[in-house]
Amino acid sequence: MSLDIKKIRNDFPILNQQVYKKPLVYFDNGATTQKPQVVIDEEAKIYSQENSNIHRGVHYLSEQLTQRYEDARKVVSEFINSAHDYEVVFTSGTTESINAVAFSFGEKYINEGDEIIISSLEHHANIVPWQMVCDREKAVLKVIPINDKGELLLDEYQKLLSPKTKIVAVNHVSNALGTVNDVKRMIDIAHQKDIPVLIDGAQSIQHSKIDVQELDCDFYVFSGHKIYAPNGIGVLYGKEKWLNDMPPFMTGGEMIKKVTFEKTTFNELPFKFEAGTPNYVAAIGLATAIKYVQKLGLENIAAYEKDLLEYATKKLNTIDGLRIIGTAENKISVISFVLENIHHYDAGMIIDKMGVAVRTGHHCAEPLMDFLNIDGTLRASFSFYNTKEEIDKLYDAILTVKQMFS
Ligand code: PLP
Repeated sequence: MSLDIKKIRNDFPILNQQVYKKPLVYFDNGATTQKPQVVIDEEAKIYSQENSNIHRGVHYLSEQLTQRYEDARKVVSEFINSAHDYEVVFTSGTTESINAVAFSFGEKYINEGDEIIISSLEHHANIVPWQMVCDREKAVLKVIPINDKGELLLDEYQKLLSPKTKIVAVNHVSNALGTVNDVKRMIDIAHQKDIPVLIDGAQSIQHSKIDVQELDCDFYVFSGHKIYAPNGIGVLYGKEKWLNDMPPFMTGGEMIKKVTFEKTTFNELPFKFEAGTPNYVAAIGLATAIKYVQKLGLENIAAYEKDLLEYATKKLNTIDGLRIIGTAENKISVISFVLENIHHYDAGMIIDKMGVAVRTGHHCAEPLMDFLNIDGTLRASFSFYNTKEEIDKLYDAILTVKQMFS
């Protein structure tokens, strides 16, 4: 089925506006996605008619909203096909999810001299928490290298795995380059040595169908705001055995079974990892966004976005002095590029004045930029609501930049 893009665009009120008297072209979807009206309406409805703190009241509003929150967990569980809905923990986002695993897993399983493997493609959110564990536990961080196209070298990965390796943490899709990593294979390789794997799904959940049981990942994390849901909500999926064995990350209300001044026992899953008042409004908004995406169909989204990527790659490659950074065989709809002798900030600011929003900088992947020997790129990241006409506008804007600097 092909997508009715005109109709879809009407679902996103923010797209229908002008910036600098030009129709907005929003190509910063890798940073955050826009919200369909159904998600905006859902949040407004909760605050205007249903709001009450969950899990604690015996009164009507609290019971109703608690049910809606737990229903949202079921929607997420079915969406990623977790074996149990209590393997889905709501967090504030990918960053908190990774910090939770790094802290809790680190406390339980990582000791002096142990090794943690990440990759050269990681976002800072999947680097710094592991560095902190290494500092605390005197463990060692190992990094999988990449080739010139921005693909992970899986032979090198295999060589890095050792009896000291306690966990592998890699992204599914690189936010800076768009590379889709063969995480299924990476998980299989690690599992042959009984090493668990965390997948940072911040850039894959919105572009492809995720089945955590088929992947057999031990942890999968993502942010709601990158899949058309509200800000402030994210997911930590973990296999039951790990979540049961790991100590909690944050402590306080709701995550306890019994508290005395002498001792505290912890609540069952998933509540053990949900200390304090959760962002129940955004969790319900996330379920609404997931249903919206499911209605469009992830296969249809992937096909449409692939078409956009191919069109944009072909078109931008015709521009003299433009170099695409990240040319992996398997990519999602992200194009990072540099312009010869023009700084990405300067180019980004001019492109913005033409109404086209692209991201500039290191994309929270400074070690990757160091490896590539650049200090940043311009990045256009496409969603299903973008069009080829918008890509033409980006093309024209880049030509204008070049003219101004010539
Ligand atoms: N990991 C990747 C691959 C990302 O692209 C991002 C955000 O861009 C993050 C982690 C962090 O996500 P958040 O800021 O929503 O926690």
